[in-house]
Amino acid sequence: MTNKLYYTDPFIYQWKTEITASENKNGTWEITLKDTAFYPEGGGQPCDLGTIDGIEVLAVRKEQDEVIHILNEKPNRTLVNCSLNKERRIEHTQHHSGQHLLSAVCVELYDIGTVSFHLSNDTATIDLNTPSLSRQQLLNIEARVNDYIYENRKINVFYINTNEASKYALRKVPSGHEQLRIVQIEGIEYNACGGTHVQTTSQIGLLKLMKTEKHRGHVRLFFSCGMRLLKDYSKKNEWVSSIANRLSSPPEKLPEKIEKLLSDNKEASQKYNALFEELSYEIAQKLLSEQEDGPFISTIFDQYSIKELEIIARNITNQSDKTVVFASTLENKILLLHNGTSPLHCGQIIKNHAAAFSGKGGGDAKKAQAFFSDIEQLKQFIEFVTTNLVQAEKIE
Ligand SMILES: [Zn+2]
Repeated sequence: MTNKLYYTDPFIYQWKTEITASENKNGTWEITLKDTAFYPEGGGQPCDLGTIDGIEVLAVRKEQDEVIHILNEKPNRTLVNCSLNKERRIEHTQHHSGQHLLSAVCVELYDIGTVSFHLSNDTATIDLNTPSLSRQQLLNIEARVNDYIYENRKINVFYINTNEASKYALRKVPSGHEQLRIVQIEGIEYNACGGTHVQTTSQIGLLKLMKTEKHRGHVRLFFSCGMRLLKDYSKKNEWVSSIANRLSSPPEKLPEKIEKLLSDNKEASQKYNALFEELSYEIAQKLLSEQEDGPFISTIFDQYSIKELEIIARNITNQSDKTVVFASTLENKILLLHNGTSPLHCGQIIKNHAAAFSGKGGGDAKKAQAFFSDIEQLKQFIEFVTTNLVQAEKIE
């Protein structure tokens, strides 16, 4: 059976060992090693990645007590050099120890248990057995966790027989084991766990609570630790600096500045909408006088959105029984609209004829829209509607 280095020393990133077995299964190789530091997925912690003799390890999993390494190719010698993705392992280790400490503090301060732990490439969460947590509780939890990190408490790993478990006030005793691996944070808690852990709380670095979400009656608490937290801070610091530069504002004034921009923008769009109402009335009058004959008012616009064209169209149908056929080349869309007195069914026209011009859309009797990927076909469709459907064709 494989000697599991990840149980004894979480800081081994490179080692030499022998391949003990290899098997090709559906095109990938499943390899076992005499010694491995590759942690297989388990207990909320994802597997390690890295290389075996330069060949990428795609996944690592546990089968019974054996560790299986999945590779695309088989190394061509028995004695191999193994190498872990160090950054990934450190992130996992810091977050796993961080999770133990965070869960312990939630119990210590508020007697709230942890239901589950999940760690992925970009998030770490625990689900807490409570329907809600106040902002003050979150601040207290975060502060206490970081106090314990600063106190540099030892994290010890040792094995006990399962029948001794009651001595250690474990919140959960895993079943089916003769021995339990205990991870102790000195003076804080004992936890039965097979994961990789740092040796003192200060190696967690720092722990930040990021946000909470409600999840199936529990609170899902997102947190970040150590190296990942530093990367996250650097990225966000860059974003804030670049926004502050762009808005010529010191970072601490950004909330105020953005509030002002949003309210200016709201005011400007209210003014624009009022002016557009007036303008759309003028445009409607002009089109009504220019296109007196026939059942249609039809125009292609280059500068307005379909939403704006609907405002102009409603100005027309308020005064006339004609069917409006408008197109916006901004959006490659057309709008059919009338006030209900026309026998034309706008939605059916689109449904029955648009596809022949590579258009698609729909609507009801009085209003319909369609999108055309090709502007020439859009124009041909308008031509088709306004010449072929002049006789107020009733479409079933
Ligand atoms: Zn654990």
